[in-house]
Amino acid sequence: MFEEYFPKIIKEALEKLSKIPTYGERTSSRFLYNFLKLPAEGRTDIINSLLSLSEKVKVCSECALISDTDPCRICSDPKRSKKFICVVEESQDAYSIERLERYTGVYHVLGGRIAPLEGVSPQDLNIDKLLERIERYNVKEVIIATNPNLEGEATANYLIKLLKRKFNRLKVSRISHGLQFGSLIELADELSLEKSIEKRTIFPE
Ligand SMILES: [Zn+2]
Repeated sequence: MFEEYFPKIIKEALEKLSKIPTYGERTSSRFLYNFLKLPAEGRTDIINSLLSLSEKVKVCSECALISDTDPCRICSDPKRSKKFICVVEESQDAYSIERLERYTGVYHVLGGRIAPLEGVSPQDLNIDKLLERIERYNVKEVIIATNPNLEGEATANYLIKLLKRKFNRLKVSRISHGLQFGSLIELADELSLEKSIEKRTIFPE
């Protein structure tokens, strides 16, 4: 019965939207119906902007940051020190840190976090390239800025152990203080985020 009454074009659009990672039925539905509330012109604007983004978007071959150039704007800026690498789960985390305009090193995007329940293991993350960069640029410090939640902590602990074992002179640090456990870097307020980077924990303590 429902199938009979439910518009096919909405059903199709919802199916496509639910392919976006973390978009379940509920998020897709909220997005779609609110999108349809916009005037036609506003909808076309969004679609055109997404089309252009989809055509032009690049992933930095160095740090895996989503950008419009490759290498990204940060990796290709000679003022940014390659001796400091800040490791994040996703591009948006790096851009949240960038907004503070304090960090002058480069980034490394893991493309996720270790999550055994979802079948994500270290091999699924962009870790080999990180090791290669540490060696190639004789990196001084790796700042691990994975999210302050269970999976982010597990990922950080894994990386700390791995990096300490492989590079005995490398300084490894973890952002910590000021961020609430269970929160996300991309949603953190600037003051807390800045404090967590400034007062980072250096390993071994
Ligand atoms: Zn880059």
